[in-house]
Amino acid sequence: MSKEKSPEKELKEKLFYNKKNVYQIIDNETVNKVNSFSEDYKNFLNLAKTEREAVKFAVEAAVEKGYTEYVPGMELKPGSRLFWNNRGKALILAIIGTEPIQNGVRINAAHVDSPRLDLKQCPLYEDSEMALFKTHYYGGIKKYQWTAIPLALHGVVVLTDGTQVDINIGENEDDPVFAVSDLLPHLASEQMKKTGSAIIAGEDLNIIVGSRPFKSDKESELVKLNILSILNEKYGITEEDFLSAELEAVPAFKAKDIGFDRSMIGSYGHDDRVCAYPALRAILDTERTPVKTIVTVLTDKEETGSDGNTGLNSSYLRYFIENLAEDFGVRGRVVLSNSECLSADVNAAFDPTYPSVMEKNNASYINYGVVVTKYTGSRGKSGTSDASAEFTGRIRSLMNKNNITWQTGELGKVDAGGGGTVAAYIANMDVDVIDLGVPVLSMHAPYEIVAKSDVYMAYRAFKAFIED
Ligand code: MN
Ligand code: MN
Repeated sequence: MSKEKSPEKELKEKLFYNKKNVYQIIDNETVNKVNSFSEDYKNFLNLAKTEREAVKFAVEAAVEKGYTEYVPGMELKPGSRLFWNNRGKALILAIIGTEPIQNGVRINAAHVDSPRLDLKQCPLYEDSEMALFKTHYYGGIKKYQWTAIPLALHGVVVLTDGTQVDINIGENEDDPVFAVSDLLPHLASEQMKKTGSAIIAGEDLNIIVGSRPFKSDKESELVKLNILSILNEKYGITEEDFLSAELEAVPAFKAKDIGFDRSMIGSYGHDDRVCAYPALRAILDTERTPVKTIVTVLTDKEETGSDGNTGLNSSYLRYFIENLAEDFGVRGRVVLSNSECLSADVNAAFDPTYPSVMEKNNASYINYGVVVTKYTGSRGKSGTSDASAEFTGRIRSLMNKNNITWQTGELGKVDAGGGGTVAAYIANMDVDVIDLGVPVLSMHAPYEIVAKSDVYMAYRAFKAFIED
């Protein structure tokens, strides 16, 4: 038998678009890099579960690398490394490039907020001699997934004198955790008849925080009193202080390897730390002065639609770029019009258990590399910026030139649902934008799954965009 390829096979290789699993392409040395990058990423996941903690982590890492706080009007030169901390909840890092800034900047933008349960303004109450917190969920969640799992409490309380008290409880091995109860199956026959979205109502997401009464028999609400007494002793707070607090209940799980082959990572909050961390590392690992000025944005409020002054629907990124432009004596809008952006966000990975919501030719798959998403949106591409063929082509050739394994991916079948990212808000400033990120299984669940090889390819993609 001839060992030569058949003409059909040769023609196929030439003409067909062949997607490949990362592990079929990379060498052992790269496998080691994938694994070591994942260890760093897991450490970040465990240390930075909220937007505030992610910003704190990033500022500390940047200062260590010689970044200084940006002050409009300060002296800037190629190689200047800057950070701009937006209210402790969003962050911009920048390195001034060698080319004039009017040629545009390169933006990598990811978000550091994740779905969670926020405490209400007056959260603490007692019922049937148990103390509980009322919550209002943040972002798009399946509410039933947030019952019967260990929760940790993160956030800040601002006292009347302005003192900020940081709270982080439930993460250390010997810390207590909290939980939302669910009904036992024995008594759930009525509950189980409800639709998925109604099985657990928003007002049922009450977090159990105590059950032991203050030792006295003269007063009511003694369990609540005991909790307030503990909080007062530990943090110096009273009940009214909850009114000026941002307290977030997040899953208390740690990030762990998934699978016998340890090829995946299970964690809370991959969306969008799985893009934020590679984007952060890409700028921090940039030793040489880049040609274009580079700007890395870690934003807040994406999960609630990007509104608010720490979200990208506000002006903070535009103001930052306008300020930089003015420092160089050029118009901000000229800089913006010549700028390019990777809007770094996750995509839905094809799930073999739920194939019906995906169109398999256009879905993203784990271990097939970073996903480049030309458009998001829903119902006829509503709410998307839809990157141009020209800019998509530019990113495609950048990926190929740098041997980055990448794939395209659409968020589910047409009319199956949909979603958005920050891309549209950045595109609205006349910037060329495309979404690029990591495929995720169980997106927005308390425990999401990503493949290590895709995380590493995301890092390589952000790095290539900076260095190009
Ligand atoms: Mn996201
Ligand atoms: Mn999301």
